[in-house]
Amino acid sequence: MKTVLDKIYANYPENDRELLLSAYRYAETMHEGQKRASGEPYFTHPCAVAEILIDLGMDVPSVAAAFLHDVIEDTPATAEDIRGLFGTEILTLVDGVTKLDKIHYQTHEEEDAENFRKIFVAMANDVRVIIIKLADRLHNMRSLNFLSNERQQRISKETLEIFTPLAGRLGISQIKCELEDLCLKYLDPEGYEYLVTNIHQKLAERHDFVDFVVKELKKLLEESGIGGEVFGRPKHFYSIYKKMKNQGKSLDQIYDLSAVRVIVETTEECYEVLGKIHKQWKPVPGRIKDYIATPKRNLYQSLHTTVVTNFGQFFEIQIRTREMHEMAEYGIAAHWKYKEQKISETGFDQRLSWIRDVMDWQGSLNDSKEFVDSLKNDLYDNELLVFTPHGKVISLPLEATPVDFAYAIHSEVGNKCVGAKVNGKIVALNSTLNTGDVV
Ligand code: MN
Repeated sequence: MKTVLDKIYANYPENDRELLLSAYRYAETMHEGQKRASGEPYFTHPCAVAEILIDLGMDVPSVAAAFLHDVIEDTPATAEDIRGLFGTEILTLVDGVTKLDKIHYQTHEEEDAENFRKIFVAMANDVRVIIIKLADRLHNMRSLNFLSNERQQRISKETLEIFTPLAGRLGISQIKCELEDLCLKYLDPEGYEYLVTNIHQKLAERHDFVDFVVKELKKLLEESGIGGEVFGRPKHFYSIYKKMKNQGKSLDQIYDLSAVRVIVETTEECYEVLGKIHKQWKPVPGRIKDYIATPKRNLYQSLHTTVVTNFGQFFEIQIRTREMHEMAEYGIAAHWKYKEQKISETGFDQRLSWIRDVMDWQGSLNDSKEFVDSLKNDLYDNELLVFTPHGKVISLPLEATPVDFAYAIHSEVGNKCVGAKVNGKIVALNSTLNTGDVV
């Protein structure tokens, strides 16, 4: 509880503090004597939620509402009390969160989930209500180990079907990633354990390699006279888990356990750096994604490419400007975080129309698939480029099969081949290869 006060002092000016502190004290008094499943005072929960929102850079009414978000539901406090003490805006937020608490997601059909998310968004007349609700869910997920196994399962499922897509849609990847990893821990404990142990080991093994890539990229920036930052970052467990499940891959076949990020100042520099990287390392066909020209629906912007070194090591690089980076981490919350700095008016307008779009909610949430599909027309049109297991690129005619691949390696390999593995899976010898396959 001390940290949340420290954070209030560190992040909000004196004239805002009084309101935040009185919301803090009011909630503390109202929840007096109540306990959480963990045995801690209940008040630790609203404090933790407020803290998450402060870290996101949310505004004063949101943080005040976070302190108060459970008082109408769980204490004698009434809506009129809140209005009288804190005003209509804060009441609207608290009331919105309270209403959302009352709708319960029962079935687990994808169609229903979609409808449920629509209902959820429609009921939250202010997008800040959803952000508070996400922070509330995040803290509940963080302390889920104190609940029964049955409730752990139910809450994790609901989180994965309703809340993580919402966080993704709002572009708040910090919350989305943490929620997904927590869900995985409860829904597939063995899978989670496996990943934690093995990924740590692999990242340790890869540490020198990532270091090498970061150094090379820094050199590249320096030589080009471009100011910027380069760092490696492990991907979150759930994204690797999903890739393994969906694409039937083993951990050994996931190239991008960590991504290397390059942050530069301008959009032009993003493309310049991409070109220079491709000159140095060969890009994997089909893995170049231009989310700057075609942003994701949640306004995510970045250039992605997967390249391969001369020694056959694959790695993903993401290139973006500082502003794009903030958007990628905080999503819609960046609007409040940087409101004071007024980054750019056009960006602000875009975000407003985005909120309307979110409230409207047409179409599916499958951002990534949509974009991958639209970006499939890649640079290598007339030939089929596949990889050997060591990362060597083999050019083949379109519609080539594993047998063609074998002959392209050596006629003896062609004569003797009896089976084929593509991307780690056994396939028929007459199946068609796709650009980017590892054969
Ligand atoms: Mn709560």
